Amino acid sequence: MSFDYDLFVIGGGSGGVRAARTAAETGAKVALAEEYRMGGTCVIRGCVPKKLMVFASGFSAMMEDAQAYGWHLEPGKFDWGTFRGKLHAELDRLESVYRSLLDRSAVTVYDTRAKLADPHTVELADGTRVTAKHILVATGGHPVTPEITNADLGIVSNDIFLMEEMPKSVLIIGGGYIACEFACILNGLGVEVTQFYRGAQILRGFDEEARGLVAEEMKAQGIDLHLGTNIVEMAPAGDAHIGHLTESDAAGPESGARGNGKGKPVWVKATNGTEAVYDHVFFATGRRPSTEGLGLEEAGVKLGRKGEIVVDDYSQTSVPSIYAIGDVTGRIELTPVAIREGMAFTETVFKGNPTKPDHDLVPSAVFTQPELGTVGLTEEAAAEQEPVEIYCTSFKPMNKAFAGRNDRVLMKLIVSKETRKVLGCHIVAPEAGEMIQLAGIAVKMGATKEDFDRVCAVHPTMAEELVTMRSPSRTA
Ligand code: NDP
Repeated sequence: MSFDYDLFVIGGGSGGVRAARTAAETGAKVALAEEYRMGGTCVIRGCVPKKLMVFASGFSAMMEDAQAYGWHLEPGKFDWGTFRGKLHAELDRLESVYRSLLDRSAVTVYDTRAKLADPHTVELADGTRVTAKHILVATGGHPVTPEITNADLGIVSNDIFLMEEMPKSVLIIGGGYIACEFACILNGLGVEVTQFYRGAQILRGFDEEARGLVAEEMKAQGIDLHLGTNIVEMAPAGDAHIGHLTESDAAGPESGARGNGKGKPVWVKATNGTEAVYDHVFFATGRRPSTEGLGLEEAGVKLGRKGEIVVDDYSQTSVPSIYAIGDVTGRIELTPVAIREGMAFTETVFKGNPTKPDHDLVPSAVFTQPELGTVGLTEEAAAEQEPVEIYCTSFKPMNKAFAGRNDRVLMKLIVSKETRKVLGCHIVAPEAGEMIQLAGIAVKMGATKEDFDRVCAVHPTMAEELVTMRSPSRTA
């Protein structure tokens, strides 16, 4: 049977684009459909614009520190309009880079939504049908909001980059990556940030001690973090609500930015009984795989409990001609993981070299201020698995202490008592993302504590503590 294409990829995010390019480079005839902008969540409304906002937000503390170091600076004000203009110009540039990479690899691009019609057929939004020997679904995920009345008054991470004005106050709901990163970003940009997290501590799943320090540092920077708290009611802020509030609460709707396209300031009631008005309520309450309306189940593709596409170790779905990679599979929701899954797919399907993407010991970073970098097991998970030694130090870094700040950092290694292997490394510090990338190499190689110790310290740095911790703080 002959097909229009050897491979049709649905979704032009990091994973889909990488799979399309690498498959095309083997000589395969490849097409890719993307309904929005090329680059997907990471490039257009996720990691990249987020990181640029992290940089932008860092300057407020940096300017204060510079003054403490003797620089004469006039306190300035952040101009969102200037930043936003540059940000979108950069995103346009990156999108065009993605397009030209596809073009150079001779991938045919359809700028439209596509769905499955059968195991070898894709239907485009205008009804055109094309056939392919293999179909790869890489449609990613999307933010979800809780099912409460008026939840549509809130914004989600996609909206942040499109705001017309910087709000005066924002309530963030959630305690995961996105909630904590944006709490720090907005706080750094001068927004009054309140954060509600329903659990006992933010960043569930990360090392207990590390997330505890991140929470402390966030609070010390001025983020009004409420643990064990959630939103119970929300409504457009009106006179009736403002009448209930204190003078300072009521200042929100009078003074804040409007016009994010989502409407006016929002009145909120919390589980602890308090009421307040915020310019925006930002739901960072998780993401869900984008599998709706793709004709997956009709084509026989099995979905999991959260709507994710169920795949085997080689990213193959329950329909042999259909594969899936990235967030839509609900494995590890990180761009570099999706890219690796895309490359492993090409190895398996187009290079005759069956390859499982490696999901073990994936380092990652939460870009809070300070950042949290992590690889391997948390202390809690490791202690459940086997007897461990914990090497841990927390201290005021030199540059911050000199500036008169009380900021603390944390360097932590979890070591197997039996094999001496470093099972986990957790760093809370400025630039922890950069540090954990390198520590990740050692941990992935199976380095022991003694291997770390054999490495001479780079002095004076924060990371030198990783090779100078002589005795365990405790065993577990
Ligand atoms: P997360 O799953 O990390 O966090 C969702 C948060 O929302 C949790 O704190 C959760 O609470 C809370 N929540 C869920 N439902 C409700 C509800 N109904 N009411 C109140 N709170 C609720 O999702 P994110 O959207 O932050 O991030 C999604 C994924 O994207 C991450 O897991 C990560 O893989 C990836 N990502 C990675 C980044 C990076 O590498 N730096 C940056 C951003 C995202 P609870 O803990 O109680 O469930």
